[in-house]
Amino acid sequence: MTAARKPWTKRKDAPARLSGRAGVERRARWLYAHPLCLHCMEGTPSRVSAGVIVDHVLPLSRGGADDESNLQTLCRACDRIKTAADLGQKLVYGCDESGFSLDPNSAWCKR
Ligand SMILES: [Zn+2]
Repeated sequence: MTAARKPWTKRKDAPARLSGRAGVERRARWLYAHPLCLHCMEGTPSRVSAGVIVDHVLPLSRGGADDESNLQTLCRACDRIKTAADLGQKLVYGCDESGFSLDPNSAWCKR
């Protein structure tokens, strides 16, 4: 029987990424310079949403680089959509902590 890896240990094959204080500072700098959700702005119709997620365009798990050429700002709803697509999963919409639907196409989100 092999010893199970402790859940908080880093895998040997884990992609290199910025972590700790340097990662937190880069996230803050990125969101300051790129405060709006890119997918909402490029969508049809275009919307303006505050970005809160610094996302890797090409996920690190698929060989994406952990540098600024591979980063984009997303809102929570767009991040859920992209993450589900990246993982090949079907997205189940719910609502956020304020009760608004996370489905960007919901009638409640239309303006
Ligand atoms: Zn968005």
